[in-house]
Amino acid sequence: MAEIARVVIVGSGQAGVETAAALRQNGFSGSVTIIGEEPDLPYQRPPLSKEFLKSVEDSSLPLRGESFYEANGIELRLGIVAERIDRDRRELVLKSGERLPYDHLVLATGARNRLPPIQGLDPARVLELRTLAHARTLTARLPALRRVAIIGGGFIGLEVAALLRQRDIAVDVLEAVDRPMGRVLSPAMSAAFRAFHEEMGTRLRLGTSAKEIAPRGEGFSLTLSDGEVLGTDAVVVAAGVVPNVELAVEAGLAIDNGVSVDALLLTSDSAISAIGDCASHPNPFGGDGPVRLESVQNAVDQGKCVAARLTGNPRAYNALPWFWSHQGAIKLQIAGLSLGMDETVTRGDPASGKFSVFVYRKGKLIAVESVNSPADHMVARRLIAAGVTLPKEIAADPAVDLKALMPKAAA
Ligand SMILES: Cc1cc2nc3c(=O)[nH]c(=O)nc-3n(C[C@H](O)[C@H](O)[C@H](O)COP(=O)(O)OP(=O)(O)OC[C@H]3O[C@@H](n4cnc5c(N)ncnc54)[C@H](O)[C@@H]3O)c2cc1C
Repeated sequence: MAEIARVVIVGSGQAGVETAAALRQNGFSGSVTIIGEEPDLPYQRPPLSKEFLKSVEDSSLPLRGESFYEANGIELRLGIVAERIDRDRRELVLKSGERLPYDHLVLATGARNRLPPIQGLDPARVLELRTLAHARTLTARLPALRRVAIIGGGFIGLEVAALLRQRDIAVDVLEAVDRPMGRVLSPAMSAAFRAFHEEMGTRLRLGTSAKEIAPRGEGFSLTLSDGEVLGTDAVVVAAGVVPNVELAVEAGLAIDNGVSVDALLLTSDSAISAIGDCASHPNPFGGDGPVRLESVQNAVDQGKCVAARLTGNPRAYNALPWFWSHQGAIKLQIAGLSLGMDETVTRGDPASGKFSVFVYRKGKLIAVESVNSPADHMVARRLIAAGVTLPKEIAADPAVDLKALMPKAAA
């Protein structure tokens, strides 16, 4: 590998900051520059739909303290947009026209919210939750809201729904498919979450989408796919994300539902890596074909993987995916990916508020979804990472101590 003296990272999110930090941790002595469009000190997104909406407290959000960047010789340039990659000259071109030469470029551009094609949807009037700026807008509006419609029954839509219900705001969640969080959860876990949210008083309208949004007074009226018209003070759009691939597309890099990378997280140009929410990568836990994951674990571990390669320790990316979500009093943790699942068994009683769903594909344990059961989650992470498959009858038996079944190396 040619000598790498200048690393430029596009994106000041979880993946970009982790790459810079890991480069320094590994002793990288060249220059490290992060270019970030958002003006805020790089921050964690998960609390935006959790603690932040409760306390409106910015101080716990930063990924690293302000002094970290200077102390580690990381040039952090915020409020700046990277506009183009000049691959021939190995230069990143900023919106200002400035050119930043690189020996290696890391695309950590993340994703942005998808705005569904609903007639009358005005992006300036609906609420979203991706950035700190979005969260500030939403929290400022909360005191005036009595009734909110949320478009999308995925993680973020339901986290927001739970917080709004805690404030006694009436909530309608519109979900186009017939179960909540259907893209990522087993049907058994979706069913449990449906019950949790209904108990919290959220109106889950499954198999229903919004067709039209029209202003009504200070609020809106929403025409639904079943013909009903819903009055609401605000509309929160939480209908998934699209990866920020424009820089890569313009530069002619391969794209496949994200910036396409190989097992080393290299794009079709070996001087450019892509990581985090924007990258579509081969994942040993992902079944057939590349996956694009939207999680802190993936952003952090991919940042570390690229930094290891750039400091002389190349290895294929093979971290086990895991994820969490807090919805009211419910703490959900997921180990593994349930793509292609064909069978599940439940351990514990969902009515008790503590249980796990073990997810199988062709007899192999591929994922475990745990509710308020952190011990199950930690064991599951080790078992799945080590490729150990629990027989279903053992997984389902709460009397069996799962820890005792872990292979020594994984324990
Ligand atoms: C509300 C919310 C709650 C979440 N909760 C959880 C959770 O509980 N658990 C979990 O695991 N994950 C959660 N996630 C997902 C997790 O936060 C993301 O997967 C993670 O932040 C991805 O990191 P990233 O660095 O790849 O992308 P991002 O964090 O999106 O960062 C990308 C950055 O790149 C910038 N950028 C893009 N293009 C350019 C350009 N051309 N020039 C300059 N800058 C650019 C963007 O402005 C952005 O700041 C949540 C996400 C949200 C929004």
